[in-house]
Amino acid sequence: MADYVKPQFFVFLIVLIPGILGGWLAANRGRNIAGWCILCAFFPIFLMVIYFHKPLKEVEGKFKRCSSCHEFIKWREDICKYCNAAQHPIGGG
Ligand SMILES: [Zn+2]
Repeated sequence: MADYVKPQFFVFLIVLIPGILGGWLAANRGRNIAGWCILCAFFPIFLMVIYFHKPLKEVEGKFKRCSSCHEFIKWREDICKYCNAAQHPIGGG
């Protein structure tokens, strides 16, 4: 009877969780999902690297470029944190 949890299961979780997190963070930044997924799974320190990485491109709902200085800022930010320029609402209007 399986009234205990196999140690392999914990190893699986330890690899899986950072892998999924890394892939998710990479997806938000328009980066290579599979590559970061594997990297973070085996080297969770790369979660910090991808977290502080700038996006490669605008990702809808996550990151956009400042209309003034073209730095990447969060999608919903009204004021650019780099140059304090007010952002135009997305979707025209
Ligand atoms: Zn700016």
